[in-house]
Amino acid sequence: MQMLDWRICSSCKDSCRYCFASEKLPAVGLDQERIILDKIKNSNIEAVNITGGEPLIDAERCFRIIDSLHHSGKSVYLSTNGYQVLEYLTHIRETVSLLGLPLDGPDEESNMACGRNRGSFGQVLQILESHAAKDIPIKIGTVVTKKNLSCRNLEGLAELMDHHPVNIWRIYEMLPENRAIQNRADLELAPKDLEELIHIVRRISEKKHRWHVELVTRRMRNANYMIIRPNGTVIIPIDDGNQVDEVLLGSLLDMSLPELIEKWNKVARERNDIFYSKRRLSDLGFNTLEVKG
Ligand code: SF4
Repeated sequence: MQMLDWRICSSCKDSCRYCFASEKLPAVGLDQERIILDKIKNSNIEAVNITGGEPLIDAERCFRIIDSLHHSGKSVYLSTNGYQVLEYLTHIRETVSLLGLPLDGPDEESNMACGRNRGSFGQVLQILESHAAKDIPIKIGTVVTKKNLSCRNLEGLAELMDHHPVNIWRIYEMLPENRAIQNRADLELAPKDLEELIHIVRRISEKKHRWHVELVTRRMRNANYMIIRPNGTVIIPIDDGNQVDEVLLGSLLDMSLPELIEKWNKVARERNDIFYSKRRLSDLGFNTLEVKG
C-alpha cells in the first residue's frame, strides 16, 4: 500500500449530483486526529490524499493535518472544490505535492450540468490563471456522466487546459456510491456511453498536450482504494457491477494500520473478480491508473 485517501470531513457547500463522499459523519476530535496522524506517520505509506466533503471548509484543521504529514516526509495531495484555494495558495505551495481541482465542462453552464454550483468554474479558472499557482502541480478531475459526455464538452476542456498550467487531467467514469446512487438513473453511463468516452479520450490523447490524460473507469477503481472516513473508520469501496458498497474494514482508532492494510488486501483479492462477472466491459487498453495496493 503506497497511498491512502483521508476524507477528513463530510461537509461541502457544493451540490454535485455524482458526489460519492461519505454521508454526514462526525469528524474525529483533536485527540483522535493525533492518533490517526501518528499511525500514518509511523507507517510506510508514501502519500495521503486529503479529501472530504470539502477539506478546506475547516481550513485550520485541514492545514494542521497537511502540515503534520508534510513535516513527517509524506507526500500530501489535496483534493478541493477550489473555493478557498486562492486564500491559502502560499501555504499550499509549501506543503502540497499535487492540488486536485474539479472541472466538468469548458464554461460556466456546462460545468454546472452535473450539479456544480454557479461560480465553481470561474473559481477554478482564477486559480489556473493565478501567477502564484504556476509552480504547484495541478490535477484537473472531470467526472463524466450522461449529462456532460460529449465530444464538444471534453475537447473544449482539453483546449482550455492547453492554455493553462495543468499537469494531469484525470477523467472519471461516474460511480454509483453514496449520494450518487440516488441520481444514477439520470447520470450513470451505459456500456455504449463508456465506449464513446473511451473513443473521445483516445482521440484527445493522440494529440500533443502539455498535460497527461488518464481515464479512470469504474472497473479500474473497484477495490483499489483504502479510505479513512471522517470518524476514523476505514473502508474499501467495492463495485459489484451494480453499485459501489463501502465495506467496513475497522477503525484506525482501535486497530493498527498494518492490520487494516492486511484486511484491505484480503478483501480486495476476494472481491475484485465480482465486478467482472456482472459487468462485462472492456476498458480497451486504458490502464493508466496507478495501482495503489
Ligand atoms: S463532489 Fe466534492 S465538491 Fe462536489 S459536492 Fe461532493 S465533496 Fe463537494
